[in-house]
Amino acid sequence: MSRFPVILSAPSGGGKTTIARALLARRQDLGYSVSCTTRPPRAGEIDGRDYYFLTRREFINRQERGEFAESAEVHGNLYGTLHAEVDRVLAAGRHVMMDIDVQGALQFRRAFPESVTVFVLPPSGEVLLERLRERDTETGAQLVARLHSALQELQAVDEYQYVVVNDDLDAAVGLVSSIIDAEVASRDRVADLRHQVTQLIERLEREIENHSS
Ligand code: 5GP
Repeated sequence: MSRFPVILSAPSGGGKTTIARALLARRQDLGYSVSCTTRPPRAGEIDGRDYYFLTRREFINRQERGEFAESAEVHGNLYGTLHAEVDRVLAAGRHVMMDIDVQGALQFRRAFPESVTVFVLPPSGEVLLERLRERDTETGAQLVARLHSALQELQAVDEYQYVVVNDDLDAAVGLVSSIIDAEVASRDRVADLRHQVTQLIERLEREIENHSS
């Protein structure tokens, strides 16, 4: 069975992290790629589960060693996906769930063209603003930075294969799950398709021959 990376991106506040978590809880065939970041942990975040929290120096060292499949600076902090994380999840026989920003998603898809890209849209401007303001861990300047990056991220929607409007969480999770199922069945991903069809054809041909002799 083919396994592939599933990239969820959204403007900050689009709700993609919640969707990713719900999908991971619902499907055994998904694993999470834990990203590296230089931003400090928020309350409740655990190193190695939510992120690998690195100093800027550590991040840059690992970048120089070519350990990242993609990396990007998102409002002043570095974020990146380790090749080793992607390999770990694929080796466990799971699709790789990735919650990464637009710049990283585009880089990553160049390295892994088999990736499925999903853009999560908030249902309205008001909802987007409400979600952005909910992060009370942030200062006013951080909020403005998030508004700017949300603006930029929205403009990248054309680069994505699928778009999911996050109006109702359950419905959005169900839709992303259906996208994964559809991709598993897409012709290019079916392992050994030629061989399977050739066997079926040969069987039919033998049957036709039996009838004609
Ligand atoms: P937060 O700091 O709120 O967890 O994440 C900020 C932004 O960084 C989000 O848009 C998130 O998707 C993005 N992000 C998280 N991990 C990665 C990563 O590994 N690579 C890239 N390019 N972006 C990431």
